[in-house]
Amino acid sequence: MSTLSYDEPVFRPPAEAASVILQATIGCAWNNCAFCEMYKSKKFKTRSLQDLKEEIKVLSLIYKGTKKVFLADGNAMVLSASKLLPILAEINNNFGKIQRISSYALPKDILSKSVVELKELRNLGLKLLYIGIESGDNELLKLLNKGETFQSTKEGILRAHEAGIDTSVMILNGLGGVEGSKQHAMRSAQLVNALNPKFLSTLNLSFPYGLEHFKKRYNATFTPLSVLEILEEMKLFISELSVTGTIYRSDHVSNQLILKGNLPRDKKRILLQIEEAINAMPSNIYPNEPMML
Ligand code: SF4
Repeated sequence: MSTLSYDEPVFRPPAEAASVILQATIGCAWNNCAFCEMYKSKKFKTRSLQDLKEEIKVLSLIYKGTKKVFLADGNAMVLSASKLLPILAEINNNFGKIQRISSYALPKDILSKSVVELKELRNLGLKLLYIGIESGDNELLKLLNKGETFQSTKEGILRAHEAGIDTSVMILNGLGGVEGSKQHAMRSAQLVNALNPKFLSTLNLSFPYGLEHFKKRYNATFTPLSVLEILEEMKLFISELSVTGTIYRSDHVSNQLILKGNLPRDKKRILLQIEEAINAMPSNIYPNEPMML
């Protein structure tokens, strides 16, 4: 029997902490976003169905009773439906009690599939896609080399919803720097309103290789936001939201202020928490260590 060995580093969303991770692909097929270093050490590659079948068997023996499987790495949804369907079938056949299969995805990965194909994937358990939409501001998406636009993101995610697949979308605070903060917040709220996702989270832009490294890859002037300015950006973003039935989280390791709630039910309380943090925050603190306020 094959042994299990992951191609490191492996990333997964916080909500998949109890899930079995299956590296359906290695790396990110796009790997071009100016702010992202996650898969820079890897060259994107797919894996043979035979390899995956053997690995699924091993995983199912180690993690008996598992209910959730997360397909890694950066965008396993780049695989065609004809490649994904047998992988999902194999997961179901081996694990037996699977309630949900999920994956990171780019909107273009969804748009490369028809609604019928997406429904077939949904029927085999693909119930949730995590999508780093980052921003709704087209100017910013271009500067960051995201390879997506407001429109492509909207079309891709709505197609997933039409097929019955839920989405968890992520916005990156501070992405436009001081120069683009307001437009980033406003356009991102407009995009999220058009999507009405089941899950929404806001993460903070970080500079794992330093600010200068990021600036070299960003195609315009960039002045990083102070913590106070990030809070103000979040306040504007949340205040512009008109989603219904969306679960909101700001609890990533990069977040300075931990926020959780259901929108619109908890919108007032969340805005009040941000306002309180703004009132307590000096203007000259820059993101460093996450802290609870
Ligand atoms: S698509 Fe996602 S994983 Fe790939 S480079 Fe961009 S942010 Fe990173």
